[in-house]
Amino acid sequence: MARPRFVIEASEAESTAKQAGLTVVQLLPSLVKSAQSLARVPISKFHVGAVGYGSSGRIFFGVNLEFPGLPLHFSVHAEQFLITNLSLQSEPRLDYVAVSAAPCGHCRQFFQEIRRAQDINILITSSENSENDTSCGQFGPLRHLLPHRFGPEDLLGEDVPLVLEKHNNALSFTEKPSKQSPIFSDDLISHALEAANRSHAPYSQCPSGVALLDSEGKIYRGWYMESAAYNPSMGPVRAALVDYIVSGGGGYEEIVAAVLVEKEDALVKQEQAARLLLQTISPKIEIRVLHCK
Ligand SMILES: [Zn+2]
Repeated sequence: MARPRFVIEASEAESTAKQAGLTVVQLLPSLVKSAQSLARVPISKFHVGAVGYGSSGRIFFGVNLEFPGLPLHFSVHAEQFLITNLSLQSEPRLDYVAVSAAPCGHCRQFFQEIRRAQDINILITSSENSENDTSCGQFGPLRHLLPHRFGPEDLLGEDVPLVLEKHNNALSFTEKPSKQSPIFSDDLISHALEAANRSHAPYSQCPSGVALLDSEGKIYRGWYMESAAYNPSMGPVRAALVDYIVSGGGGYEEIVAAVLVEKEDALVKQEQAARLLLQTISPKIEIRVLHCK
């Protein structure tokens, strides 16, 4: 079976749209169902798919994720997945999103971490159970879905990079990581530090990053992304799981090791939540936490 795809290159997006006699923007709603089919939702069985169009011309998929055995707030919504996917692929801008269900309040809020979020155009397609297979509306700006917004501009200066903008947190290890089990290779450790350096944590100044290793030796990474409203923030393990899924990862039990990098004296610490999530989805995983400054 071909591996599910979460990123469509610009040239392919163009040619697919052209063949269908559409623009790429018009193509987006027709991709929502295939995005929905990739959701991992063992609790709700409610599949949500979000399809985004970035300024590079690429198309990105987002899906919802649920984790049995954990509180519901570990769930990832399709829009959060989409924004994480954009960040992982260094996409600078999101212009259009077609999504299968109306974005919840947290997701409307999480979109605010993107510069000029009010201008992102959103279309809500019919639900998967509807007989109407076509879109039920037109694209409209996010400002219509969240008119009285609270966002980064309420807390940050204009020169602070927002979630899809380039970050370099200039972090280094407080001490050189000692040699432990060979599973924690220099490569895995450096991926985790690099991830922490790309973390978007302008509100708490507590960046963090995670690198995951699977049984085939492949590495995945993700970084913590904060929301001005705190609660919708995306933890580093969940972000790394987005990379795992986007890169074709299968069952979570194939993840055999994880490295988390964060500040030792952080007010916002990820370690306990990271251990809980990782040990629940992959009970035999080996976890290492390294501190940076
Ligand atoms: Zn949501």
